[in-house]
Amino acid sequence: MPVYYEEITVSTSSRFELVDITDRVEEIVRKSGIRNGICMVFAPHATAAIIANEHEYGLLKDIIRLIKELFKPDADWNHNRIDDNAHAHLGSSIIGASRVFPVIDGRLIRGTWQNIFLVEMDGPRRYRRVVVMVLGEE
Ligand code: ZN
Repeated sequence: MPVYYEEITVSTSSRFELVDITDRVEEIVRKSGIRNGICMVFAPHATAAIIANEHEYGLLKDIIRLIKELFKPDADWNHNRIDDNAHAHLGSSIIGASRVFPVIDGRLIRGTWQNIFLVEMDGPRRYRRVVVMVLGEE
């Protein structure tokens, strides 16, 4: 079964940030030549995550607010004695470092209000990697 993959590099400019990578992922799906299958979007990082949701300014702020409320950057986490980013490890663990999308007739399937985002929780970082793997029939 044909497999195609590419890596995206993303740089982030603040500690918490949502980076919209939808266009870049869809471009990789187009280039893959795969007609029907799945597209996996994976961030090989322990302090970032991948989500799919609406690209609306207020909602993006709400998501970051929820991440801060859930994972409490200022709490007395054990890991903070090492490098002060326990909240980001917890967020990555619970939100998840990957999402999978159907590919049908050569197009990535997503809802109108489902853009794909890298969730930065321990920025700023110059090199955040996202692996996009497309697997299916040509
Ligand atoms: Zn750490």
